[in-house]
Amino acid sequence: MGRTERGGVRDVSGAAGGAGAAPSRPATLRIHATVGVHPHHVNELVAGDYERLRELASHPRVVAYGEIGLDYVKEYSPAPLQRSHFAAQVELAQELGLPLVIHDREAHADTLAILRAAGSLASGGVMHCFSGDVALAEEVLELGFYISIPGVVTFKTAETMREAVARVPLERLLLETDGPFLAPVPYRGKRNEPAFLPWIAAKVAEIKGCSIDEVAQATTTNARRLFSLPPAAGAAK
Ligand SMILES: [Zn+2]
Repeated sequence: MGRTERGGVRDVSGAAGGAGAAPSRPATLRIHATVGVHPHHVNELVAGDYERLRELASHPRVVAYGEIGLDYVKEYSPAPLQRSHFAAQVELAQELGLPLVIHDREAHADTLAILRAAGSLASGGVMHCFSGDVALAEEVLELGFYISIPGVVTFKTAETMREAVARVPLERLLLETDGPFLAPVPYRGKRNEPAFLPWIAAKVAEIKGCSIDEVAQATTTNARRLFSLPPAAGAAK
């Protein structure tokens, strides 16, 4: 957490093992949690877990439902099971009025189909660690979702992602603070951490032809809006 703060990162949201453990910290770094069962682990769900998820997700520090979605690269859980639990969890999140944090690896079409079938998706969501192209970005924008850009955008080979970033308005972009294997250049290959965020912001600024400050402000505002986060500690407004 100390390293996180040195990177200038103030609010942290992320998947939590148990929301009951989300501490209330009076310090400058405020912790928020998300609750959900990742596609890798849906094969471990047992009877009663949905009631437990509902309970955990109702904690006031829980700001979103996720990561949920589909992962056809690893397929640690069988794809049909991933799809049914993804759909069921989207429904639960809608009931709870929580925005969605979506994990989609090599499963773009099915991910979109399940989200579209879910109806209004009024609380919105984010396609986290976006890995698609311009066409997918447009579909995600149409859903009203945000698109979160990982450190990959700085990789030499990531031309497709840079095209997508160019297409997505700043008002709909978020920056990915983690993804242990997705550290931006010049830290590629090292364990990623939120303190590296400025390098992702710099690349996005370069693509957008704006200042790093503008990217920082827009993505911070977007995250606050999506997750209904309180104003920054010590901020004027
Ligand atoms: Zn993920």
